[in-house]
Amino acid sequence: MASGRKRRRTEDENREFNQDLTESFAFICNTDGLPTCLICHEKLAHNKKLNLERHFTTKHTQFAGKYPTGDARKKAIEELQKKRVKFHAK
Ligand SMILES: [Zn+2]
Repeated sequence: MASGRKRRRTEDENREFNQDLTESFAFICNTDGLPTCLICHEKLAHNKKLNLERHFTTKHTQFAGKYPTGDARKKAIEELQKKRVKFHAK
């Protein structure tokens, strides 16, 4: 048994999803490979930057207004991701 080998984590697969989209528009990639909004948990049918941007700028103007800068938004989005992980953990 070659147990010493490094295993591929599912995290690596998720990395294909553009990190910028997570940091800019609070979207993550769910297990179906669809972009999912961290704020309202809506899934979008297309993994296109324009769609995500439109969703974020039209539906989450408050969030965008509250966290207008990259760093603040990044932190807020990180918090959302943590909550999501907790929510799904059993
Ligand atoms: Zn949303």
